Amino acid sequence: MSANRCVRCRRTVPAVPTGWNGEWKLGILKSVICPDCQSVEENIEAEINEATLSYVSKDGKPASVPKTGRD
Ligand SMILES: [Zn+2]
Repeated sequence: MSANRCVRCRRTVPAVPTGWNGEWKLGILKSVICPDCQSVEENIEAEINEATLSYVSKDGKPASVPKTGRD
């Protein structure tokens, strides 16, 4: 499973994936859903993740870390 395309419509993840919802495992992005394919519940989850996680590049792959307040 590649994490650089929407798992539903196969749209490529943009450089700044605003509103995209990711499934994370051990801090590594496993799959993503674009804003157009998300259900209301998934969209809320994405908003929460954006508020609490910082997206970083880890060994060339997208990853997330908790926000520290220093961003
Ligand atoms: Zn999609």
